[in-house]
Amino acid sequence: MEVKPVKGTHDILGADIILYQRIEDALAKTAHTYGYLEFRTPIIEHTELFSRSVGDSSDIVRKEMYTFLDKGNRSLTLRPELTAGIIRTIVNNKLYASQDFPIKASYIGPAFRYERPQAGRFRQFSQFGVEAVGLDSHLIDVEVISLGYNALKSLNFIDITLKINTLGDDESRNNYREALRAYFSEHIKDMCSDCKERLKINPLRILDCKVEEDQKIIKQAPRIQDYLTSDSKERFSKTVNLLDSLKIKFDLDENLVRGLDYYSEVVFEYHYISRDGKSFGALGAGGHYSHLVEELGGPNLAGVGLSFGIERLAQVVENEKLLFDAFPFLAFYIMPIGDVNIEKVYELNEKIHRLGYPSEMAYESKSLKALFKKAEKRSALFAILIGDEELEKEVLTIKNLRTKEQTSVALADFDNVANNIVEEELVELNEER
Ligand code: AMP
Repeated sequence: MEVKPVKGTHDILGADIILYQRIEDALAKTAHTYGYLEFRTPIIEHTELFSRSVGDSSDIVRKEMYTFLDKGNRSLTLRPELTAGIIRTIVNNKLYASQDFPIKASYIGPAFRYERPQAGRFRQFSQFGVEAVGLDSHLIDVEVISLGYNALKSLNFIDITLKINTLGDDESRNNYREALRAYFSEHIKDMCSDCKERLKINPLRILDCKVEEDQKIIKQAPRIQDYLTSDSKERFSKTVNLLDSLKIKFDLDENLVRGLDYYSEVVFEYHYISRDGKSFGALGAGGHYSHLVEELGGPNLAGVGLSFGIERLAQVVENEKLLFDAFPFLAFYIMPIGDVNIEKVYELNEKIHRLGYPSEMAYESKSLKALFKKAEKRSALFAILIGDEELEKEVLTIKNLRTKEQTSVALADFDNVANNIVEEELVELNEER
């Protein structure tokens, strides 16, 4: 019997991997330009790590975790996000004792949530993100927001909608929570069952509700702006001013509260709406946190982080054709002509591999028509035709498969010529897009 993949998981094969690797490389490179280096932490952690960090009132901990007992009767969980593991390792290794602040880490890897699978929502997905720990300032908050913005730019995203909000400090949030509790208690009888639950555990969560009827009630709810302490107000205004001066456009969204319990002060999300009006939801999100490090047994240090869903990014990049070179192209497809010495052709193919170009050869000579078909199937930029005559004269016939132009190149010059024509062809393809 055929065994199907687990619901909400997906295989990523061959050609798509090129796209994923290209995206992951660009994200890691952007993180590196800001001084963030990758931390790799385990996929399985003690369940307690997430109930203490992501929070018992979050949807993630309440109903979405893959939690199981191992053979030693320990409660373990497949990580639903990667921030908690990063903070745990910072605390375990006491990185705060030996490093200048902020400690900067990036991460990439799979996460697991038992959610209802739908477009852009999986049960196993991958996240890329960064964390900056130990500096409590709008400067580092803005650095992380800008890092995310530039990561999207490096993937050729143009119309990025950055939504930001502030949740304020502890005092602001406590006061606001009470105001919300009072307000929603009046209206809760008309709201969805999830909201009834949210009111009991954390009324802030109600602001996240997507049910249309509830939206009308939510629109009239008290606003966080009216409950911010002067410190939080000042911090947020410094944040938006700095974003302005960096020319990073944003929309203030008072209902943005994020689904994880650890956030305070600034929170943000990156959204993208395609040219034909399709919304892809939040591509990435993040915020500042005040107590996470302490909650996980470390000193009282603040932090800020963000994370992107790789699958969502890949979907947009593919849909909108944002990366022209993220397809499994071959630079050269080598075609042996007639009864040419196939070992010599093989040597040439090997030489091209050693130069670092993707190339493949036909292992037997076929009709030219069949060979050109194969080249096209492999998305080759150029065909190299090589028969006895070429071997004898030590030349190669190179055909541009887009323009159909054909040139003859001395074998000795191939290294230089290859470099130029492949680069030029990729630029042309990009412009033609
Ligand atoms: P969060 O950790 O909930 O703040 O989510 C950060 C980003 O991870 C989101 O903006 C999505 O791009 C991605 N993400 C979260 N949950 C899922 C999921 N179930 N499937 C795919 N991507 C997800």
